[in-house]
Amino acid sequence: MIENLSHPPRQHAQHGLWLPFSRPNDLEVEGGPVIIERGEGVWLWDTEGRRYLDGVGALEAMALGHGRTELAEVAYRQMQQLAFLDVFRYASKPAIALAETLLQIGPPNMARVFFAPGGSEAVETALKLAFQYHYLRGEPQRRKVICRQGAYHGVTFGAMNCDGRYHATRNDIYLGEGRFGEVAEGPAVGPGWGLGGRHTAGAENFRQKVLQLGHENVAAIIVDPLAVASAVAMPPASDLQALRALCDEFGILLIVDEVIAGFARSGRMFVCELYDVQPDFLVLSKALSSGYMPIGATLVSQKVIDAFNHGNPKDNIFTHGHTYSGHPVACAVALENIRIIKEEGLADRAAQMGIYFQKALARLSHHPSFVDARGIGLLWGLELIGPDKPMTAFSSPRMACLWLRKRLRDLGLVTLTLHPGTVFLLAPPLIIKPDEIDTMVDILDQGLSELDAALGY
Ligand code: PLP
Repeated sequence: MIENLSHPPRQHAQHGLWLPFSRPNDLEVEGGPVIIERGEGVWLWDTEGRRYLDGVGALEAMALGHGRTELAEVAYRQMQQLAFLDVFRYASKPAIALAETLLQIGPPNMARVFFAPGGSEAVETALKLAFQYHYLRGEPQRRKVICRQGAYHGVTFGAMNCDGRYHATRNDIYLGEGRFGEVAEGPAVGPGWGLGGRHTAGAENFRQKVLQLGHENVAAIIVDPLAVASAVAMPPASDLQALRALCDEFGILLIVDEVIAGFARSGRMFVCELYDVQPDFLVLSKALSSGYMPIGATLVSQKVIDAFNHGNPKDNIFTHGHTYSGHPVACAVALENIRIIKEEGLADRAAQMGIYFQKALARLSHHPSFVDARGIGLLWGLELIGPDKPMTAFSSPRMACLWLRKRLRDLGLVTLTLHPGTVFLLAPPLIIKPDEIDTMVDILDQGLSELDAALGY
């Protein structure tokens, strides 16, 4: 049932909050600031009583869904016992236990865990370690990092270098001439690539980039194995395997960023496990705590640890760390989150629900604006408005999709649009039930009918 259709128009309010990726006065994101005050399961409620299905799991973080009291109770107990202590000079029990747990469930070649406050900072850790690894091994000139076309790895200075020039990027302003990041340009071709390959690059494009830069200058390759920001491109397993081989061939480090993909969303705890690839760094955040506390983690391989252990003692200290690295409350919550993901079998559940989701999305394929639905587990990209379609009512396909995103929100479904602006991300909490998937697809169906009508298709 699409219940928001009966609600009156939203009240507008001024506030002092500057929203990310917006102008200071962009208070009316998508037609008015929606203030969310409550969440439970896959549902969110705003201050005016409207209900929304959280179709993107609070920026892909919400594995367990909203309102889980188990996580709140763990945070409460930990705050009473030890609310905060830095890990610069001391360790806390939750930080040690979480590092151990991540090494148990992560790729077998991982040897240490370095904590950070979030995803960008965890990427930053991997980049700095990669530079220092090569420095310690006598190759300080290796300073180039290659990412995929359309990639997003965060907003800190290092992470900005790894943007694949997705549509919203303005890192030219912030980085100026000092960019060390390079972009492998697509299209990706080869077995296993679907329509998503049009929007991004594959291992062959990375190889060309390595050769163009000179392999002796390349420190690392960084990829999200599902290429979510790159139009949910969904590279085949063979792509990550080929990237591993490429890195091995040329002494390049492989950074796999599972900030979105990690923690059961793909149907396995990590995509690295699913695709049977051991990276040199595994970057995690978001569903590490289901978003209940801010935390990121960089898993570091034995190979990198060995370089540090055998490196010149003048140079082998990693001069890096945040006050909130390994925050005890965040670590305690993350531990409980992982325990529940395992106890509730959410990886298997994501795999099964993914099959249901795929069938439900197929119901949308009759819409003239539908191009493709691609995904894995509970992470899907819905691509709309093919290049062959006429564009009259809107200035561009991207503007048409912004209109639809707002319309879906008003109908009660929270979504996101991704590079190149015509791909909708669908990544609900992993506890979503079949009838809730049906509701998602009903709202999409209604929205697509309205979009098709507006476009005159
Ligand atoms: N890496 C990937 C793949 C991401 O999707 C994101 C954020 O969306 C980041 C890194 C940055 O994480 P954060 O926003 O926590 O800094």
